[in-house]
Amino acid sequence: MSETNFNTKTVHFQTKEPARNASKAKPIYQTSAFVFTDLDDMESFYEGEKEYLYSRYSNPNTDDLGKGIALLEEADDGVATSSGMSAILAGVLAVAKQGDHVIASDDLYGGTYQLFAQELINFGIEVSFVSFENLEQVKNTITEQTKLIYTESVTNPLLRVEKLEDIMTLAKEHGIKTMIDNTFATPYLLQPTKLGADLVVHSATKYIGGHSDVTAGVLVGAQELMSEAKSKVATLGCNLSPFEAWLACRGLKTLSVRMERQSRNAQALADALQTHEGVARVYYPKFVSEKGNGAMVSIDLAPHVNVETFFRSLGWVKIAPTLAGVETTVSYPLRTSHRTIPETLRNELGIGKQLVRISVGIEDETDIITAFTEAIDKA
Ligand SMILES: *Cc1c(COP(=O)(O)O)cnc(C)c1O
Repeated sequence: MSETNFNTKTVHFQTKEPARNASKAKPIYQTSAFVFTDLDDMESFYEGEKEYLYSRYSNPNTDDLGKGIALLEEADDGVATSSGMSAILAGVLAVAKQGDHVIASDDLYGGTYQLFAQELINFGIEVSFVSFENLEQVKNTITEQTKLIYTESVTNPLLRVEKLEDIMTLAKEHGIKTMIDNTFATPYLLQPTKLGADLVVHSATKYIGGHSDVTAGVLVGAQELMSEAKSKVATLGCNLSPFEAWLACRGLKTLSVRMERQSRNAQALADALQTHEGVARVYYPKFVSEKGNGAMVSIDLAPHVNVETFFRSLGWVKIAPTLAGVETTVSYPLRTSHRTIPETLRNELGIGKQLVRISVGIEDETDIITAFTEAIDKA
């Protein structure tokens, strides 16, 4: 081959992929596409022998995240997406099309409520919001067009644990698919696929990433639905970037140790606040799994406690409109995640002005308890 010139050298300076032993840490395949040696080699992708063509379809880092969560959830397959929201959208569109009907819990993450209430209608998909506390009500909402039942395994922010088995039984009796948002429980505590869920979705922004440095989603489920969902992700272009997938995978490695510590700390904080006179009510699940009850604690501050002063008195505990990081954070659902929920529904759900949501981190148990009791005492 002839000697190349400056401009060509500028773009082709890198050495060829050498034959070498594998690196201990997974490399980041920060590439939009994959190269082929000749046309036969390219054809081999379409024949299923080569795995990668274009990163919007799939990439080794995003595959790691999707397949990793599928492994932990004991699902057939998984796909990583640009956010929890896009994972939810891809999952719904894999099941429901124009003219179909979806039944969703009325106690949902605010963004999901907005997606279902405002956007799905533009796809011709109708959504009914009902309380899942009484499954008779869910049953009565089923129509000929109902294709999907959607809920969260542990709800946000009131931390109600759904009776997943009963929901699955009801759905199966009517030939309806189920999709569960398992963000709060994580596969460490709960695996809805094992209970019969057809699709399970995660905001990997939360416990899977665990370090508040990545926005990502994951959808896992049965093969047939996942093939459809993967095609939606590629066509809608809501794939995850390789670097963010890599970060989420790095976070995932410590999911067990984080959840173990965070759940233990949360249990201790919930117990301590239960008896505090400045707390009217503690929302903490009685039972999620034998491994623990999760790391989220919500409280209604007593009427005499000034919410503004409380938030100002938290010391090292940061106010953040997210959850699940290694640091303990607090949020105010009324003005963040549930801002868009109509006031009447908010009141029905019990999301009031004294409600505070706490995401418990990995710090020392005593420090966490002291930070909260001192802030409440000051307020
Ligand atoms: C954060 C969250 C989502 C949305 O996820 P993003 O990654 O922010 O798009 C969905 N469901 C629950 C329960 C969440 O907490």
